[in-house]
Amino acid sequence: MAKRVFNFSAGPATLPPSVLAEAQRGVAELNGLGMSILEISHRSKGFEAVLAEAKSLLSELLGIGPNYKTLFLQGGSSLQFSMLPMNLLRGTGRTADYILTGTWGTKAFQEAPREGTARAAWDGKSVNYSHLPAAGDIKLSSDAAYVHMTANETIQGVEFTGEPETGSAPLVCDASSNFLSRPIDVDRYGMIYACAQKNAGISGVTVVIIRDDLLDRVPKGLPPMLDYKLQADNDSLYNTPPTFAIYVLMLVARWLKNEVGGLEKMAAVNREKAKLLYDVIDKNSDFYRGHARADSRSQMNVTWRLPSEDLEAALVKQAQARGMVDLKGHRSVGGLRASIYNAMSREGVVALRDLLLEFHEQHAGAAAGQAKSS
Ligand SMILES: *Cc1c(COP(=O)(O)O)cnc(C)c1O
Repeated sequence: MAKRVFNFSAGPATLPPSVLAEAQRGVAELNGLGMSILEISHRSKGFEAVLAEAKSLLSELLGIGPNYKTLFLQGGSSLQFSMLPMNLLRGTGRTADYILTGTWGTKAFQEAPREGTARAAWDGKSVNYSHLPAAGDIKLSSDAAYVHMTANETIQGVEFTGEPETGSAPLVCDASSNFLSRPIDVDRYGMIYACAQKNAGISGVTVVIIRDDLLDRVPKGLPPMLDYKLQADNDSLYNTPPTFAIYVLMLVARWLKNEVGGLEKMAAVNREKAKLLYDVIDKNSDFYRGHARADSRSQMNVTWRLPSEDLEAALVKQAQARGMVDLKGHRSVGGLRASIYNAMSREGVVALRDLLLEFHEQHAGAAAGQAKSS
């Protein structure tokens, strides 16, 4: 394979080289069928096997119980922002509660009023989404249709490590940017959704894991493509699903099981990688300033500022020259963002850590002098 850069993009994001190599083989020919994965019918035995393996690997990795359905849908996580209230809020007369910890949760919230009453159970806007709510700060409705949370806010870099207490209200989780990064207790959730292109594959497929009793709440008359129940009844084959994206998701799940050794192992690697960067930020807080508060920060997206935008631009440029790309932060947070999903190697994170140390060495003295004289 040609020399690869270290791709710190927030998504679509870096993939394991062994997955890329296997996907190339599948594009040439799949399992002795005399056809490419790009050519086989979604109703063929060959694709049925791919779909079944993708589902069973997800069940095994995450410990998904038999009372859940796993769906492979299109439209990205953004379509879930709309589908969720259509399916689980419309016509209920109840309120949907949203815990707003950043940009994505806020976007999800904005779609809900089209279908019913929605309210913010907590909103971190006033603290610039730099930390999560404390347990007592979340104010739930008495009979919420569901409570929505964003497991990892990709832009701000804040991540839940567990689940907020929601009583009997089903917890619905946008897990787009930390899906499969660590074990989760699926039983705590009514529904989990995640687009694949951050941590689980490529764009085009979104995984929806939904508990059976919620499927019974789906109102009649929804457009078929937007109806969870209909999608579940048809095993994600109501129409042509994104066959290649499902194939790559299956390869990523195989990689997690066979090469990484499961989600506990993956989580340990991810913790260690994140610590390499946060340690540099913490130890050089005269120069590097993390966006997220220490108790809320993400293992997937590390966000931080420097003393000036010029220095931030210079660091991004130096990184680029060393083959580390896509480190510029989202415009709403500024600074830098290193997305270090499952497939980002420790080697890539070490290269970035070393650059941060060097850059600090070169510039921290001058930056402090400037701050004093101004
Ligand atoms: C990327 C992302 C989305 C949007 O996903 P699309 O597939 O582009 O619609 C939603 N939520 C989170 C947390 C994300 O990281």
